[in-house]
This record gives sequence, C-alpha cells and structure tokens, in this order.
Amino acid sequence: MIRNIQDVPVTGKRVLTRVDFNVPISASGEITDDTRIRETLPTIRSIVDRGGIAVLVSHLGRPKGMVAPAFTLKPVADHLQTLLPDHRVVFAPDCVGEHATSAVSAAQPGDIVLLENVRFHAEEEANDARFATALAAVADVFCNDAFGTAHRAHASTVGVTAHVQDVCAGLLMQKELAYLGAALREPRRPLVAVIGGSKISGKIDVIRSLMHSCDTILIGGGMMFTFLQSQGISVGSSLVEPDRLELAASLLEEARHTAVRLLLPTDTIVADRFDAQAATQVVAVTEIPDGWMGLDVGPESAAAYGEVIRTAGTVVWNGPMGVFEMPPFAAGTRQVADALAEATARGAITIVGGGDSAAAITQFGLASRVSHVSTGGGASLEFLEGKELPGVVALDRP
Ligand code: AMP
Repeated sequence: MIRNIQDVPVTGKRVLTRVDFNVPISASGEITDDTRIRETLPTIRSIVDRGGIAVLVSHLGRPKGMVAPAFTLKPVADHLQTLLPDHRVVFAPDCVGEHATSAVSAAQPGDIVLLENVRFHAEEEANDARFATALAAVADVFCNDAFGTAHRAHASTVGVTAHVQDVCAGLLMQKELAYLGAALREPRRPLVAVIGGSKISGKIDVIRSLMHSCDTILIGGGMMFTFLQSQGISVGSSLVEPDRLELAASLLEEARHTAVRLLLPTDTIVADRFDAQAATQVVAVTEIPDGWMGLDVGPESAAAYGEVIRTAGTVVWNGPMGVFEMPPFAAGTRQVADALAEATARGAITIVGGGDSAAAITQFGLASRVSHVSTGGGASLEFLEGKELPGVVALDRP
C-alpha cells in the first residue's frame, strides 16, 4: 500500500521530499519555465501548513557527480521564496553532511529547506547505501513527489526509503499515477494512443504494450518512415532506422492479428533539406521523391488522426507528429494538440506524456485544455510499457 502525504502526520516532523526541480535556467541565472516548481507547491503546502518542515531534495541537469556551479539549485531556492512568501525558504549548500544537518536543525515548523543538487555526488546515481543513509539523516518522513525520476533507482528515489520509517507519495506523484494508471487499467473507450517522435527504437516497447490495451494507435513523427519502408515503400531521404525494419514489419503484422488498429499516415510534408527554409511539398507517402525527406504528417493524415482523437474516450499522446520546432513542419502536431483539446471538452480523458509532446502542447498554449500533462517523459513511457517504476515500488509498504 502506498500512503499519501495528506494522510501522514507531519506536525513538527522533518519531511525529506524528493522533488523534480530540474528546470531550465538561463546563463544569467533566470528560471525560464517554473512549471515543475509550481506543480510541487500543493505537496510543500501540505507539509508546511500542518507545521512540518519541508526538506526538499532534487537534481538539476547533469553535473556528472561533481560540484558544478552552473547546476546549483540556489536560484530555485530564491524563486521558491517568491512563490511561498509566507514561509521561510533556506538554501543548504550541500544535500548531506554538516551543511544539510545544520540547516535542517535550525529550521522551525513551517520552514522549507532546499538542499543543494543531489547529483553533485556520484553516489546518488549509483544508489550508494551509505549516501542514502546520509540523506535519511535529515528525515523523519520521506515523501516522493518526483514522478519524472521514479523510473530511476537512485539514492534519493529508492535507497533512502530503506532508512526512513514513514514513506509516502506527494500530491503530484499521486496525480501522475492516478491518470496514467486509470488510462491503462480502466480506460474510457475507445482508448487511442498517438505515438510520434524521431525514432522507433525508444518506443518499441510502448507500442507493443499498447497494442494489447488500445483500440487504435496512430503513428507519426520520424518513426513512421521505418514502418513505411518496412512495407516496401520508398521514403527518399526520410529518417529510417535500417536495423528496425524487420521489427516494424513484425509489429504491423502482429497488429493485423489483434483487435487493435495501427494506423500510418497516408500523406506527408516533404522537404528538400532539414531546414525551416527548405522547399516543401505535400505528397502521398507512396510518392516521396528521391532526395526529399518527410518532416511532418500531411493534411489528410492529420485530419484523419484528428477525427479518431475527437471521438476517443481516452487519449494518450507521446511524441510529436513532425519537426514541430520548425514552423513549416508543426501543423500535424498542432492538429493533434487541437484534437486533444476538443476531445477533452467533449469529456474524454487526455494525457500528454512528458518530453517533446509536453513542450509542443505548451508551445501551442493548449496545456490547460487537456486532462493531464505528465511531468515525466521517460517515466511515463515506462509506465505505459507496463514496467514497474522503482521509485514507486519503493514507496509500497505492507
Ligand atoms: P523523441 O525524442 O524521440 O520523442 O523525438 C522528438 C523529436 O523528433 C523532435 O525534436 C522532432 O523534431 C523530431 N521529429 C519528429 N518528426 C520527425 C521527422 N519526420 N524527421 C526527423 N525528426 C522528426
């Protein structure tokens, strides 16, 4: 059973809370997108409003186990103070040892202590037991609110739980598990998955797993060309993974023998080079000229996909339909995002996996018009693959 933070007594207690404050910070130290920080506020408030001490631990970037000033969490502490003006936010310049213990012992109920980047220590990613014990030294309760790192068995997500009596899930973690879990276990049907992104290799397992639960799977993005070529279609200079052709063919074959509909685009926007200023044309996928590359799904496919999405009961979306970062190749992704918003308005449950699709829906200003935008790209994919997330399993106690 996984306990929830709101059911755990925290008054006067030090609640070590794993958060995901891996936010983009500009060279001048400015946080350019604070969504991840804001999303943890309900959990932090749940602790401090009940007279607990919220001791926050997070990673930021990839400092490779060394102290790297470019990856300090100090700007996040300053920003957090502006978001929670009624509470004292203290920054501890190390996440373990003297700096951490003295900052936490000086804290009063209702205070927040943000510990320095946990990845300044190589022991974090190695899930080192001694380091996990050192982290646990400042905890009466451990709360995990970092869904985005729950697929990694690190000291601050897994190791630490062995050394703290009370462990629980934060509100954001609960929300992630509720949406993704319900989509898989008891989806309102039809259940539609939209899978895109550059390569098939990172998403084979999720496609395979979704074939058993979904009614329809819509394929877009660079990976569509490996599927098409596996059917003997000539795709010009489009992105193809030659070592995945056989696998793509076998997935299509498997789909023919199951109830799932696995749909591929019928048209594509091709360009004469990988460039926003390239010459473009719309062609049928069977008519891609030599030397041209498909960089988006075409209007006919986008409309057909939109129709499937609009009539779905549940939609799970992971990966853009095209190179949405370049305006000439953003239309397919945009139409999928619009259809998700429409489906939501009609009562469907719509879930956007993290990473690029989350970036796309935010870029289009539609993030608030879908049911849930996951904060974890890799974690949400692994969850949809049916894998157990080590950070979640570690919270499960009899
Ligand atoms: P992924 O990280 O695998 O989800 O891939 C996301 C990236 O795929 C985005 O940066 C897109 O620009 C890229 N992408 C989408 N469609 C294509 C395409 N047809 N060709 C090349 N890259 C693509």
